Amino acid sequence: MFSKILIANRGEIALRIIRAARELGVRSVAVYSEVDRNSLHVRFADEAICIGQAQSSNSYLNIPAIMSAAEITDVEAIHPGYGFLAENPHFAEICESCQIKFIGPTPENIRLVGDKMAARTTMQKIGLPIVPGSTAVIKTKEETLKTAKKVGYPVIIKAAAGGGGKGMRICHNDITLVSSFMTAQAEAEASFGNANVYLEKYIEKPRHVEIQILADKFGRTLYLGERDCSIQRRHQKLLEESPSPIVDSKLRKRLGELAVKAARSVNYASVGTIEFLLDQENNFYFMEMNTRIQVEHPVTEMVTGIDLIKEQIRVAAGEKLHLNQDDIHIQGASIECRINAEDFENDFMPSPGKIETLNLPGGPGVRVDTHIYPGYEISPYYDSLVAKLITHGRNRQEAIKIMQRALSEFIIAPIKTTIPFHQRLLEHPLFIKGNISTHFLQEILKEREEE
Ligand code: ADP
Repeated sequence: MFSKILIANRGEIALRIIRAARELGVRSVAVYSEVDRNSLHVRFADEAICIGQAQSSNSYLNIPAIMSAAEITDVEAIHPGYGFLAENPHFAEICESCQIKFIGPTPENIRLVGDKMAARTTMQKIGLPIVPGSTAVIKTKEETLKTAKKVGYPVIIKAAAGGGGKGMRICHNDITLVSSFMTAQAEAEASFGNANVYLEKYIEKPRHVEIQILADKFGRTLYLGERDCSIQRRHQKLLEESPSPIVDSKLRKRLGELAVKAARSVNYASVGTIEFLLDQENNFYFMEMNTRIQVEHPVTEMVTGIDLIKEQIRVAAGEKLHLNQDDIHIQGASIECRINAEDFENDFMPSPGKIETLNLPGGPGVRVDTHIYPGYEISPYYDSLVAKLITHGRNRQEAIKIMQRALSEFIIAPIKTTIPFHQRLLEHPLFIKGNISTHFLQEILKEREEE
């Protein structure tokens, strides 16, 4: 096992990793930007180093500053968390060339699946169903029109290097297709430095279901059930749960085995996620693979009892997994609400500022992953996630009841948060029934406007 690791991240995930490291007996080094000086990850790490100014490009994305911090503190490994440098193959390569272990998969793995089009082709070759669409990057208007005609409208244009719900456009006819194609290319170039786009059939009212993978370097690859992340706003997840209300044990096994096959085909050794879209007939299609720990990993931890971050660190240190597929059992149900500093009443506008009053919920079945405390100043420089509220019950109904109760105890003032939004969502009869799709949120927000 490592004796000391550096955490190249901030906020709740940096704290989460420090906790896992401490329980493993591993010392931790926090890095922070000037505005994060008073953050809890700085306080709870064994050592902390300032790496630059508030803008991410000057700090959490500043590779030379992070590598210098790693050298000064003499760490053996770097955990990238999620976001920032977590899926940057260049960063993983630099770590390797400095003899520092990158806690994640190989740079080749990251590069391969980071290109969504390349990942589609690879997964199709090994037998995973993919959403009907282009077989290569599309370069011309004519090709776009031809592919759209073949798969039928509506279609979605995606940036090959896209991520975080960005760089996607839905088109319903030839006219919007041509103009969207041009803007999508320009946007992809501007946002991701890569103008490659491709086209897929747009699945109507799909479910987003993803499989958690855990693999070691000795070829043992396990699946840890699924997460349903269909509650999204503008393609960004707001609530996740495990198990999915629509996945039965037969489908879980089928998706799980395919996900394992996908990970094995690229000799994957770390935690990872294979995302699928399910249509209304429960046909499923591979969508993409994520090579990092995900924001929503706690719901899987709650239902499997496995600490994913500790396992991720162990396999990076070259340890063998001590688990078999038969050891993985899904116990009860878990839900995670993302509490963002956003004003739900005002089109989810960011609401940064100082927290004057804070009451974190507790009691049976409640877990809160957060870096906030009374007096903490939420900075406008980073994403707006301030806490993840996670509940675990014997079944979905109980997890919902616990969540409703926990949300009612959660007080953050005077900043605005998504708590009132989640309260409303958790009471919606269709959500309670589990009858949702990625369009659900848009529909209930519309209902609200019409009230
Ligand atoms: P990102 O990497 O930016 O998160 P994804 O490829 O994971 O992008 O897609 C994000 C979301 O976009 C999905 O969860 C789904 O809601 C929607 N989406 C993507 N592709 C399709 C599709 N072919 N049909 C319908 N919805 C889609």
